[in-house]
Amino acid sequence: MNLSYPKHHLVKTGHISACQVCNSDKLHTILDLGHQPLCDTLLTKAMLNEPEKSYPLRMIWCENCTGVQIDYCVDGSEVYHPNYPYKSGVTKELVEYQVKIAESLIKKYNLNPNDLVVDVGSNDGTLLSGFKGTGIKTVGVEPTNIAKLANASGIETIQSFFDIKTSEAIKQKHGQASLMVTTNTFAHMQTLGEVIMGAYNLLKDGGVFISETHYLLDVIRGGQFDTVYHEHLRTYSLKSLVALFDQYDFTVTDVERGDRYGGNIRVHVTKGKDRPVSAEVGKLLKLEEESGLGKIETYKKFAQRVRDARVNFMDFLISTKKSGKRIVGNSCPGRSSTLLNYYGVDSELLPYLAEQPASLKLGMYLPGKHIPVVNNQRLIDEQPDFVVLLAWHYAKPIMEQLKARGLKSNFIVPLPDFKIVKNSEV
Ligand SMILES: [Zn+2]
Repeated sequence: MNLSYPKHHLVKTGHISACQVCNSDKLHTILDLGHQPLCDTLLTKAMLNEPEKSYPLRMIWCENCTGVQIDYCVDGSEVYHPNYPYKSGVTKELVEYQVKIAESLIKKYNLNPNDLVVDVGSNDGTLLSGFKGTGIKTVGVEPTNIAKLANASGIETIQSFFDIKTSEAIKQKHGQASLMVTTNTFAHMQTLGEVIMGAYNLLKDGGVFISETHYLLDVIRGGQFDTVYHEHLRTYSLKSLVALFDQYDFTVTDVERGDRYGGNIRVHVTKGKDRPVSAEVGKLLKLEEESGLGKIETYKKFAQRVRDARVNFMDFLISTKKSGKRIVGNSCPGRSSTLLNYYGVDSELLPYLAEQPASLKLGMYLPGKHIPVVNNQRLIDEQPDFVVLLAWHYAKPIMEQLKARGLKSNFIVPLPDFKIVKNSEV
């Protein structure tokens, strides 16, 4: 089998001068977020005594395929260091959501215990446990130490990046896969060609590769510049995904939208050309065009909205400090690093970020701005005047949970537009 792929689908470390998807040089800078540290490299107290690396972070748009991307790639081994702190089992909502994804895919593709499902970037195995519960064979692939947790909880997981070699090892041991799933990783991968050809090698004819990522239309409509960080090499439009898979023997056969990560797209891509293409694909391509994703003006407006949101936030933050009121942060998702580093907020302006008691980030410091991450019990103990919700894409459940625990503070939702939510309104 010929498993070669276009050269530009191995994104090289360093500055990128052509589109990662279609190789066009018609690239435009939408927003320059400055030099920023890696958002998930939280610092220990000892690391505060050492120099800290930062890299250019710019949001770039391709006029040809409409994909948005960053133009500096940090090597994957630096981004996904063994102690990478994210663990999906931590949030109850995410566990429930992933079990639902599994249920819907089992139904749609009539999966049974003869089928093999492979999850790329399987984290602690939460998604696969939804398949495994019904007797379907599963294998996870996960590069970080979280793979050990998955194996310990009975989800077979290979600790590795997914590539052609890994795909061959899985095929030799378990046979060909009916389904491959990757949630919140396909925008991250430097080795795009390896992953797509690895999927091609591992999948049966007519097998389906499903990728769920944050979605360009939602990012643009929602002023969500904070989804741009070094881990997210690309922000896909459907048009750019079609352009990507057109370079292979794969067909985009279905697409769904959801509200995960502040708006996501789940694309179903079939090996070969034999599966009929759902009408949803044409509908969404049309919506993208009508929404201006193919026009530079759309991105100029987006950038202006981002700048306005920054000024409004900083104006409120500083006037609140001046009036002697207490304002603190809640949650420390990757996106909080982009937002706080771009806005220029340090621990003098926002003394801490509160995280749930099970978080692996407790006791550490936000990259760049060195804001300490503390147990969210402190919110209840101190009752500050305002709590900034940095995981604003989960604002409603977070506000409800904190209020139910006895928090009386008012809330600040920084995006999509700066907003104050009074505690009595929750
Ligand atoms: Zn392109």
